[in-house]
Amino acid sequence: MEQITQTSFGARVADFFALIFTRTDTRRCPYPGCAVHVRFRAVSPQEAQRLTELAVDHARHVKPTER
Ligand SMILES: [Zn+2]
Repeated sequence: MEQITQTSFGARVADFFALIFTRTDTRRCPYPGCAVHVRFRAVSPQEAQRLTELAVDHARHVKPTER
């Protein structure tokens, strides 16, 4: 098995972006029996926070269209 000892700067940058853009986060509703979950990737921290709150707030799942 060959070992790559030299890593070009370009390869390292590619790895860096691959890590970011392929990383998928999943937030599931903690309520037992609820299948609601939100999957996202490559979003801003603010958007991730918003989606997380949406996923874990079960009150929004039982009345999705009622306002
Ligand atoms: Zn739920």
